[in-house]
Amino acid sequence: MSYERPNIQRMHGYTPGEQPADASVVKLNTNENPYPPTDAVMAALQAIEPDMLRRYPPPLATPFREVAAAVHDLHVEELIATNAGDELLRLAITTFVEPGRAIGTLDPCYSLYPVLAAVHDSPVHAVPLNDDWSIPTPTDVAEQLNDAGVQLTFVVNPHAPSGLLTRAETLTALAEELDGVLLIDEAYVDFVTPELKYDAIEIVKALDNVLLLRTLSKGYSLAGLRFGYGIGDPGLIEPMLTKTKDSYNVDAVAQRLAIAALLSRDDARKSWDAVRDERARVITALMDLGLTCVPSQTNFVLATHPDAATLYAALKQRSIFVRYFDADRLRDKLRITIGTPDQNDALLGAMGELL
Ligand SMILES: *Cc1c(COP(=O)(O)O)cnc(C)c1O
Repeated sequence: MSYERPNIQRMHGYTPGEQPADASVVKLNTNENPYPPTDAVMAALQAIEPDMLRRYPPPLATPFREVAAAVHDLHVEELIATNAGDELLRLAITTFVEPGRAIGTLDPCYSLYPVLAAVHDSPVHAVPLNDDWSIPTPTDVAEQLNDAGVQLTFVVNPHAPSGLLTRAETLTALAEELDGVLLIDEAYVDFVTPELKYDAIEIVKALDNVLLLRTLSKGYSLAGLRFGYGIGDPGLIEPMLTKTKDSYNVDAVAQRLAIAALLSRDDARKSWDAVRDERARVITALMDLGLTCVPSQTNFVLATHPDAATLYAALKQRSIFVRYFDADRLRDKLRITIGTPDQNDALLGAMGELL
């Protein structure tokens, strides 16, 4: 006898990247920042007092939201703090999609989106990306999604798993044409080259149907903390903040450390610069070895090789973990997280021997 709802019975859960217990593994498979959290974050952790744990945390994380508002030049009402980025995705679905109505994605995308849609018993309407991973003409995409009755569309920018950055103008054009909400998942935005002047907050200021996802997991080296936030028009934020989120969705320790993280972003930025430098080096070296690489604006690179599956297994045997997706359009590719210079040297050395 199963007590699950039929859609839960039918669906498959999210498959997380492997987290080996062995610390000697060169772990380039889950896009963690290879550098430690800032000193300010670690000091804030040391300073946690018993009373902070005894009492309930600020329910709306208002102290954090005030700091984030100052950092991004926004109003507190345009911000919600969440139990990492993943909770914002779930909240957006719960709040903006009637069960059974479709959710839009651009394919391929973050593999959690279809899982969350299945939990909600919503079909996914996936528009394929172009061969070079760019977004097809916004008017065409919007027309398809609107025709499918989509109320919420997820776009990840810069894109995962390719690393490609879409210009803010393209996303504006898409949002303007969509009947529903556009959630721009900016999990990797901290690694975008500053000279490109990419800024999606301008879209939020101009349009009332755009929600940005930010997370401290990647840029701030805090994947273990589980803290993220959403940026959007108060009309989108308010129902999530006051109705659909858990009453105390972000814990007191996470709130305190998240404030320290944002206030020490100049320190975190050094890790973004280091990752960008290494990203350029790794891409050049992989291309020299004969792999094709997408020009990445993230902390990972998608590299193509006909024997990707074999390479993946051979690297793993040498305790170098990268990510392989047994999925259409990705079977001849490896997604490789940019590590420290030593980790990258280990990867490139092994690849050189294997090829
Ligand atoms: C990492 C990631 C997230 C959010 O991760 P959290 O750890 O839950 O903040 C969201 N989208 C994409 C594409 C990611 O890679």
